[in-house]
Amino acid sequence: MLDTASNRPELPAEIARRRTFAIISHPDAGKTTLTEKFLLFGGAIQMAGQVRAKGEARRTRSDFMQMEKDRGISVSASAMSFDFKSFRFNLVDTPGHSDFSEDTYRTLTAVDAAVMVIDGAKGVESQTQKLFEVCRLRDLPILTFCNKMDREARDVFDIIDEIQENLAIDVTPASWPIGMGREFLGCYDMLNNRLELMDRADRNVVAESIRLDGLDDPRLADHIPAHLLTQLREEVEMARELLPTLDPQSVLEGHMTPIWFGSAINSFGVKELMEGIATYGPEPQVQKATPRSIAPEEPKVTGFVFKVQANMDPKHRDRVAFVRLASGHFLRGMKLTHVRTKKPMAISNPVLFLASDRELAEEAWAGDIIGIPNHGQLRIGDTLTEGEAIRVSGIPSFAPELLQTVRAGDPMKAKHLEKALMQFAEEGAAKVFKPMIGSGFIVGVVGALQFEVLGSRIELEYGLPVRFDASQFTSARWVTGPKAAVDKFINANKQHISYDHDGDVVYLTRLQWDIDRIERDYPDITLTATKEMM
Ligand code: GDP
Repeated sequence: MLDTASNRPELPAEIARRRTFAIISHPDAGKTTLTEKFLLFGGAIQMAGQVRAKGEARRTRSDFMQMEKDRGISVSASAMSFDFKSFRFNLVDTPGHSDFSEDTYRTLTAVDAAVMVIDGAKGVESQTQKLFEVCRLRDLPILTFCNKMDREARDVFDIIDEIQENLAIDVTPASWPIGMGREFLGCYDMLNNRLELMDRADRNVVAESIRLDGLDDPRLADHIPAHLLTQLREEVEMARELLPTLDPQSVLEGHMTPIWFGSAINSFGVKELMEGIATYGPEPQVQKATPRSIAPEEPKVTGFVFKVQANMDPKHRDRVAFVRLASGHFLRGMKLTHVRTKKPMAISNPVLFLASDRELAEEAWAGDIIGIPNHGQLRIGDTLTEGEAIRVSGIPSFAPELLQTVRAGDPMKAKHLEKALMQFAEEGAAKVFKPMIGSGFIVGVVGALQFEVLGSRIELEYGLPVRFDASQFTSARWVTGPKAAVDKFINANKQHISYDHDGDVVYLTRLQWDIDRIERDYPDITLTATKEMM
């Protein structure tokens, strides 16, 4: 079953064995715990517990700041690579806080699949639902892990029904839990006809699985009390009648999700889930780009920046651009073309994020995530190639929903403030607009918490106290159209015009009515709430 052979024989074996995915979940469902266990089974760390710092740091705002300060931790957790059997897994972290939906969206452009973790007692929660919708936009394959079965959980059919109804996706059981809460014994592996028993004594091992001849195998009675065995047989029979059987093609297309039951904290069900990722993964996929899409097996290297993280080392103003390789075999020292500026870049210090260590990447393949330290040349949405003018598409920037003006506490420091704001704009942490008339800046974010995070980061990293105030505007729209029409529009609306950090024209307003009127009065002008990042 765990054969790395792909149904695309043209794919080099090194690429075919890669699985690049993210975990989507509601806070507290067990994402951090599951990540630790992935690393444990992947042999990347000796004892689980090393990503814990991050999981616990995320809860409150002040802790979140601490995490932001402690860049080392949050960065090594941004992308983690580890091996499982003959596979190389690349796990890309989705930001935990619901405020960072745009960041999350972009993270999901860098993966080929998502693991959806739900809490067996709570089912599909709000954040899971939102993240799922984002995955659906890209038809990402989704594998589901129903966690915390060692606690009182909901009825299994209920959970499955809820996923099918709320998320409009077919659910097929890959495993079936035996008992729950204190009676939880383990799972019957529906795909491989195995019995997997949980070892409560040691949380870092999984009891040996027992291969069975179907649910009538007499050995079942040696391990499962009679009442649970009867229940298991009835439920599995019902599940086979009522629920669809696994169709790998449908999983690949994002129409069906297999569900595994387990308990991450007890390391139970994790290995089966990992086998599932390996089997239904899928391997690195074709990347949409203009003027043509990019196939992973192309010998030439292409990659795109989906995340930028600045000030990882507070002593240096360096940044790391996280690049997903879309094709080819990358070697350290390669010269790549930065398509936006048409300049060559020698990639001499690429970083590969092997579990908790950062290592120099001597080589990497399509599907891998590498970190490229730079001084601001690389921005979100940038494409790197071996010369061809090709740009990865589909990495959007959303209009912010909250706008505030920002001023330096010390008016002499306005220039410093501008520099700091530009950095955060390039990182994608905020939108920064420079009004055409007047001084100062308007900052736009998607969630209110981001203002506070931004304020403390500017103070911490630039030593600049800043003040945010209510802005007279509440909406921002990018303005596009023929140059003459845009110029005329700008002249007639100077009080509302500003420029974003790329120099693109943005119309700011307080009234939806204004936007409707402009669409009527200026037929050549388009106002958009998203902009493709390039
Ligand atoms: P995250 O917010 O999704 O990253 O969740 P965490 O991994 O931090 O887990 C949230 C809480 O649930 C922690 O207290 C974990 O110890 C606990 N937890 C995680 N997995 C399990 C499990 O399988 N069973 C039980 N009983 N608790 C778990």
